[in-house]
Amino acid sequence: MKGSKCKICRRVGEKLFLKGERCVSPKCAMVKRPYPPGQRAKKRRKGRPSEYAKELREKQKLRNWYNLEEKQFKNYVKKILRKKGKIKDPSLSLIQVLESRFDNIIFRFGFTLSRVKARQLVSHGYFLVNGKETNFPSRHLKKGDVVSLRPQKSKKKIVKDIRILIKKNKPPAWLELNTEKLEGKVIKFPTLEEVSPPVEIPAIFEFYSR
Ligand code: SF4
Repeated sequence: MKGSKCKICRRVGEKLFLKGERCVSPKCAMVKRPYPPGQRAKKRRKGRPSEYAKELREKQKLRNWYNLEEKQFKNYVKKILRKKGKIKDPSLSLIQVLESRFDNIIFRFGFTLSRVKARQLVSHGYFLVNGKETNFPSRHLKKGDVVSLRPQKSKKKIVKDIRILIKKNKPPAWLELNTEKLEGKVIKFPTLEEVSPPVEIPAIFEFYSR
């Protein structure tokens, strides 16, 4: 499995930051081998990509950026598509729903260097939401929700790691973090500019409208 995340980046031609510290080091595969994996893929890239190929690429980028399975990701997009006529900005709605996931918020607080690690910690019950145990990475947090470390887990090495990480990574303006207590609050949901996803979101809606 080692390296498979990097293959995703190489396939879509963009750094998706799926492996934490390695992604910002010279060891990053997009630095060492910034072309698609496999000779065949190299040849395929030479032609002009079709509309379908472009839409597929955008979809794969965003899905992998949020570390989601195809089924989960498709459900999010389809739900927005069903409401498309009723919502003002479908791209913003999609991003806000993805950003509000529990695992993403743990990553955004700076508790981990990747969403993959954030999901592991959430699944292993390291955090509480509003003082209650919850280990569902797909839970959507709301404005005002407070995330804290579960006391039983707070003596583990992971807590030391979190303290080191939050010194280096500040959370975005839409989240508030008490660095002493390691307690975070959702202040609001982000704008598209605040998230700046590395994709053309309308192409993703096109992909799932086919
Ligand atoms: Fe691998 Fe991270 Fe570089 Fe992507 S950004 S190629 S996951 S090291």
